[in-house]
Amino acid sequence: MSRTHIRVRGIYGGVPTQLLAQGKTLSESGVNAIWIGSGGLRTEDIALLKSQGAQVFAEFNTLHEASYLEKHPDAAPIGTDGRVCPPPDGWQGICPTHPGYRRYRMDAFRRALQSFDIDGIWLDYHHSHASWEQAEPNLPDTCFCPRCRAQFSRETGIGLAGSVSEQSARLLGELRDRWVDWRCGVFTDWVREFRAILNAERPSALLGTFHCPWSDTERDGALRNKLAIDLKAQAPYLDVFSIMPYHARFGHAGDPGWIARQTAWLGRFLSLKGDPGEKKRIWPIVQLSDWGENVRAEEVETILDYGTRLPATGIMVFAWGSLQAQPEKVEAMTRFYRAIRD
Ligand SMILES: [Zn+2]
Repeated sequence: MSRTHIRVRGIYGGVPTQLLAQGKTLSESGVNAIWIGSGGLRTEDIALLKSQGAQVFAEFNTLHEASYLEKHPDAAPIGTDGRVCPPPDGWQGICPTHPGYRRYRMDAFRRALQSFDIDGIWLDYHHSHASWEQAEPNLPDTCFCPRCRAQFSRETGIGLAGSVSEQSARLLGELRDRWVDWRCGVFTDWVREFRAILNAERPSALLGTFHCPWSDTERDGALRNKLAIDLKAQAPYLDVFSIMPYHARFGHAGDPGWIARQTAWLGRFLSLKGDPGEKKRIWPIVQLSDWGENVRAEEVETILDYGTRLPATGIMVFAWGSLQAQPEKVEAMTRFYRAIRD
């Protein structure tokens, strides 16, 4: 099959040591990009991967650093009743207006760009306190902390009075559009600041984002209304959109064509076709790991086929940590990658 539009054939989840141990270089395996968690970056690994012709990208946790709450409980997201909102399915988010937390993440982001010769950095978990990485998501309404409510009032000029429950009912009722717009603006402003830091520290690096694969209208517009992800507003600050169509995890195990449909939607939504001259790119991350439902080795080619259709111009697979123990899937992946490279 012809996939000349695919320039990036990647693996997410760290240095593929087992692949290298087979005596093949990454370029012989058809792999030319590796994503590593920013906390696990090491200079010698980056040098090794680059010497084998791969680009190295960092993954950066924006709003899911739960350990921060141990010393800063006031950064916990607050529910409609004014109390701390328990982490849905154990998934802990952070209040997006907590100034100390924001500084903490911006400092870590800057440090990663200063310290490591990376080709780009990808925002991860850049959404509200919600457990959406499963077939049926769990999407509580947050954050109604005093800080968020005061900032909303200050920036919109809309006064709020009454109990927290009364205020949250109004924000989710008659003021819903204003509330959603404001919340999306908060999350977009994080992306604006990440971009400014990247431009100052390593302007040649790409800024990407791993994001929920729902369309703008699915689940009653939950992408914006619940997760506070406004892709069009974030687009001016981003280079690469890594949509996450994990078909087996998200209830589409028998329908891998869903991967291509969600990616096609994103292209229409952002007016991207995958033309060589386009500045912004779509590089899906597709699921090969067993998560939710298992993925069989025989399915790998089909998944990568759907994942590499335009408007995608790059692809990566999720995730090396568990894939490394499944050599038949790794073999199917490298076979596909070599085939579309040649
Ligand atoms: Zn808050």
